[in-house]
Amino acid sequence: MTISVAIIGTGPAGFYTADALIKKGVDCTIDLIDRLPTPYGLIRFGVAPDHQTTKKVSRTFEKTALSEHCHFFGNVEVGRDVSLVELREMYDAVVLAVGAGHDRLVGIPGEDKKGVIGSATFVGWYNAHPDLRNLDPDLSSGNVVVIGNGNVAIDIARVLVKTREEMADSDLPEYATAAIETSPITDVYMLGRRGPIEAKFTNVELREMGELKNAVPLVDPAQLPDEVGDLDNPRDQRLREKNLATLKEFTKFKAADAPKHVHFGFYANPVEILGGDRVEGLRLEKTKVDGGRAVGTGEFFEIACGLVIPAVGYRSLPVADVPFDDKNFVVVHDDGRVGPGLYAVGWIKRGPSGVISTNRPDGATAATHIAEDCGEGRKPGRTALGPHLAERGVRVVTFGDWKKIESAEIAAAPGAAPRRKFETLTEMLDVLGN
Ligand SMILES: Cc1cc2nc3c(=O)[nH]c(=O)nc-3n(C[C@H](O)[C@H](O)[C@H](O)COP(=O)(O)OP(=O)(O)OC[C@H]3O[C@@H](n4cnc5c(N)ncnc54)[C@H](O)[C@@H]3O)c2cc1C
Repeated sequence: MTISVAIIGTGPAGFYTADALIKKGVDCTIDLIDRLPTPYGLIRFGVAPDHQTTKKVSRTFEKTALSEHCHFFGNVEVGRDVSLVELREMYDAVVLAVGAGHDRLVGIPGEDKKGVIGSATFVGWYNAHPDLRNLDPDLSSGNVVVIGNGNVAIDIARVLVKTREEMADSDLPEYATAAIETSPITDVYMLGRRGPIEAKFTNVELREMGELKNAVPLVDPAQLPDEVGDLDNPRDQRLREKNLATLKEFTKFKAADAPKHVHFGFYANPVEILGGDRVEGLRLEKTKVDGGRAVGTGEFFEIACGLVIPAVGYRSLPVADVPFDDKNFVVVHDDGRVGPGLYAVGWIKRGPSGVISTNRPDGATAATHIAEDCGEGRKPGRTALGPHLAERGVRVVTFGDWKKIESAEIAAAPGAAPRRKFETLTEMLDVLGN
């Protein structure tokens, strides 16, 4: 009998798993379940709205979704509409691909103040995640601090200083465009505990910061070493050399060159968020790097600001009825095997690191395990899930429904924008009528 597979989560990891099962020729049905009516996870809600080329990978995933093996169950939240225990009773194999879409904070005093917004929340807001439509971040101060020296930090800084015109061919929602355009933000401080060599930017993203219309990157030449030094990994070596060269180029920019500035700050460890109820500033300790680690120097400084965005990584939440590693924020697994007929892939398995394609090998591994472990299929799969959801009154969004939502978004796109994203679940479901 055909193996019934349920994949919970339709980000890259979920789709790579479905694709691997199909390519392997496993005789299976694959049900792709997502709590949102929209597929693709962080491709839609994480990847920056002005990086549309990156988002195009979803076209490949669409082909997978349209395969005869697959069925999309959108608007179905596991844990609310169906439990994991129930799914495991219905399916031969269940794959956890729920990602790590939550904020990780720095862990310093004052992080509970108004005006501290984690990167997952802030990025979700400007990407029109329906959970975050009403966030209404306070952008009323001139200075913003983004804590972190990776691509997510760069994305946030760039989105905050780009003009409406520069964003015209993006899918930044109008509410975010207007809030950013009318805000008095002039200076975004992007701060890392370690030095420029240790920063995790990719070079394309870094270089982009020198090509903005209304903003310039500002780098203190005294923070740049002459050379990268010898690293073990040649790929790392090349990347870091390129980044150092780019940062050196940035030292030509002066504050007077543009009305907005992105300050690249290194060797700065945040120790406390200052203010009363609201953020008024950030206190930091200067550091030096010793053996790759940031070590405090005992010298402190402060930056006045009204918004602090920790961009120090994402985290997953425990999944009910599954052993969870509280230290690394991942499910406990053995090479992706979580329990009998239960597998994990992507960020819930490895933690929040890597690019979209980094999730591909997880899918291949899970497909191999499923083929090995399940042998003959025994469980009914979608013929049990469908009636269960109907009984619970869940409005399941099929892939055909999603295509209608997508078409309506494309039809409503203003000017050069690729789409006008719906901002609420109600708007999306209204497109589908009854
Ligand atoms: C801000 C940001 C920018 C990025 N930019 C890039 C980039 O430019 N290029 C690049 O290559 N990579 C980028 N990445 C990395 C890339 O997005 C990730 O590697 C990838 O999305 C992780 O895939 P995933 O499938 O594990 O998780 P996700 O993409 O998060 O997918 C998880 C899915 O699970 C669903 N889900 C969660 N809980 C449930 C539940 N209980 N029931 C049903 N469904 C559920 C979610 O709705 C979501 O659709 C970026 C990441 C971030 C955070």
